[in-house]
Amino acid sequence: MRVLLASRNAKKLGELRRILAPSLPGLEVIGLDDVPPYAEVPESGATFGDNALIKAREGFRRTGLPTVADDSGLAVDALNGMPGVLSARWAGSHGDDTANLRLVLDQVGDVPDDRLGAAFQCSVAYVSADGEILTDGRMPGRLVREPRGANGFGYDPIFVPDGFDRTSAELAPGEKDRISHRGQALRALAERLAET
Ligand code: IMP
Repeated sequence: MRVLLASRNAKKLGELRRILAPSLPGLEVIGLDDVPPYAEVPESGATFGDNALIKAREGFRRTGLPTVADDSGLAVDALNGMPGVLSARWAGSHGDDTANLRLVLDQVGDVPDDRLGAAFQCSVAYVSADGEILTDGRMPGRLVREPRGANGFGYDPIFVPDGFDRTSAELAPGEKDRISHRGQALRALAERLAET
C-alpha cells in the first residue's frame, strides 16, 4: 500500500516511515515532492485537528492516495494556550524559529517561574476511501528563560519535557521521538491502521 504524507519535510517522512513500518509491513510512504504539484490549502483551522484534516483531505482529493497530515505547536499555559495553531508564524513570518521563541520569552517575562507550564501538541489525520482517522499526542513540560541545545527545531531550546532536566533541543532525536507529541499521535495512527 502507498500512503502520501502531505508534507515536504524529510524529517517527518523519516519519522512516519520508522513508526508505521513495524505495524504495517510493505507500506510505502511518499511525500509531496513525489506527486504532481498542487496548490496547498491555507492552514485556516482553529485547532490542530482541523488543520491536519484540511491538509489530509486535500491530499486525498488531489491524488486519490490515502493521505496522512499533521499539525502541531506549542501551547503555553500563561498565554491561554497560545501560540497554538499560530506557532510557526507567531512573530510574523512563517518559520522564523528564533524570532518566535524570543517573542514567547518576552511575553512570559513577568510570569513567575512556577507558572511556566506548557505543552507541545500534535494532531495527525488520515483520509482514505475508507474514511477518516484523527489521533492526538501531547508532551507536557515547562518553559526555561534561556535557550539551550542544538537538536530539534522550533521552540525545542526553551522547552523542558516533564521528567527531564534537559530541554528537548538537548535530547537525542530517538529520545525525543519516544516521548514526543508527534511520536504519540503517529503511533496511535499506526495502531488504528493495523486494526483495520
Ligand atoms: P508544523 O506542524 O510543522 O506546522 O509545526 C508548527 C510549529 O510548531 C513549528 O514551526 C514549531 O514552531 C512548532 N513545533 C511543533 N512541533 C515542535 C517540536 O517538536 N519542537 C519544537 N517546535 C515545534
